Amino acid sequence: MATTCDPMAAVAPFRFDNSFARDLQGFYVRQRPAVVPAPRLLFLNESLAHELGLDLASLDGPARAALFAGNTLPDGAEPLAQAYAGHQFGGFAPRLGDGRALLLGEVIDRQGRRRDIAFKGSGRTPFARGGDGKAAVGPMLREVLVGEAMHALGIPTTRALAVAATGEPVYREHALPGAVLTRVAASHIRVGTFEYHAFRGDIERLRKLAEYTIARHDPSLLATPRPFLALLQSAAERHAALVAQWMNVGFIHGVMNTDNMAMSGETIDYGPCAFMEAYDPTAVFSSIDRRARYAFGNQPDIACWNLGCLAQSLLPLLSADAEQAVAMATEVIAAFPARYRRHLLQGQRSKLGLGRGEPDDDSADVALAEDWLILLQAGRVDFTLGWRRLADAAAGDEAPLRALFVDPRVPDAWLARWRARCASESVGAAHDPAIAGLERAKAMRSVSPIVIARNHRVEEALAAASDQGDLAPFQRLLIALGRPYDEAPELAPYALPAPAEVTARYRTFCGT
Ligand code: AMP
Ligand code: MG
Repeated sequence: MATTCDPMAAVAPFRFDNSFARDLQGFYVRQRPAVVPAPRLLFLNESLAHELGLDLASLDGPARAALFAGNTLPDGAEPLAQAYAGHQFGGFAPRLGDGRALLLGEVIDRQGRRRDIAFKGSGRTPFARGGDGKAAVGPMLREVLVGEAMHALGIPTTRALAVAATGEPVYREHALPGAVLTRVAASHIRVGTFEYHAFRGDIERLRKLAEYTIARHDPSLLATPRPFLALLQSAAERHAALVAQWMNVGFIHGVMNTDNMAMSGETIDYGPCAFMEAYDPTAVFSSIDRRARYAFGNQPDIACWNLGCLAQSLLPLLSADAEQAVAMATEVIAAFPARYRRHLLQGQRSKLGLGRGEPDDDSADVALAEDWLILLQAGRVDFTLGWRRLADAAAGDEAPLRALFVDPRVPDAWLARWRARCASESVGAAHDPAIAGLERAKAMRSVSPIVIARNHRVEEALAAASDQGDLAPFQRLLIALGRPYDEAPELAPYALPAPAEVTARYRTFCGT
């Protein structure tokens, strides 16, 4: 039976406090979610629900499904579609906005953090242009898997709270089962949100947005002499750190348009993303990224380019003197590559089992890390396993690492350099080299995962869920992805790379 939006069926699992709706009138359009024929809950993130302090206990299965499919609007929700612009593959689109997403509101979680609760796939909005406003089960479950994998890796990310099937088909190349995702984010303010108002020359709105963003993400900056410049610096710092983390786990976002770059510094919009297998900076999986703009190795430059768009948008707020504004913005952007390299090296040092650098001179460690990556690339070694087997080498067993190379002697010279560098510092209090090696290996295994969201595993899980309605492979994979550093026998199947031919043919799609 069709469920309808029944105002009598009040549910109050969220304690909403909607600052965006309240403070930023004119930055959005109010819109109710579409009513769907047959809601069915496919996924509920119980631990995230707990973290958010949600009260779901009083809701039975059908009530939860109606809630997360958008049929029952929870008390206090003020659904709205946000306006934003964006540079997509380098070209400016002045009016994008939430075409199929709605911000329901914000909650304060148990740790006192303000978090957005938003739908994706909940029907058309005034920003939908030619789109149907809908989403399919496969891409929404994909967002669950990859987002939870990133979260378990300690990488800032939006997270999936729930996925509900809608019981209606969505038409892409084929008819696919439809779904609504409920997404949790530190906020949904994007670089493109600033571009939207800057493009329209609406300085007052731009200032309001900047003040709101600072209050929400960097309140301490409000008291500094130049808060808007500090906002730009803070965005640069967050993205330098974020992209360095991506690069150190082999994550390819796939569609780093400025509308997909969150001011909070969280990874957002898991569309054609993928984890790299054999190390290759030119790796691209997205079917729409024909010119390889968003290839793995380009990601730091693209983050910098996107921050340039943010800087450009913020210019009118930086100084009344246009030349001075440009000089200040340029300084921040010019400093980004060094900022990024610092974060990258910090992560690489941990992965190499090195606790600290040489005082005032990073060049030897930079070269050590670069030469390691050159080795992996030349040998087409699996990036994840390469790092992980290096930890085994630290523990005294080099065989698993050597086995990743066609000629096991290839890493000899590099290993000798690395060992010498390791010997130059002792981990913890251990003086016995064997104990120091074990401690180093343990530290390395806590930062280099063994289980990542392998593309063939993700596809297998999504195909079973979408084509056969079988959620078991998805659930098993989700559990494995929650334990990325555990080298447990039951997780072993999730640690293996896909056969090289599969990876060579692998393409991801935008999921629209
Ligand atoms: P994305 O590629 O998902 O980041 O989306 C880029 C833009 O296209 C955003 O403005 C989305 O809201 C919009 N969009 C994507 N898919 C759809 C859809 N099925 N219906 C309406 N708008 C969409
Ligand atoms: Mg997007």
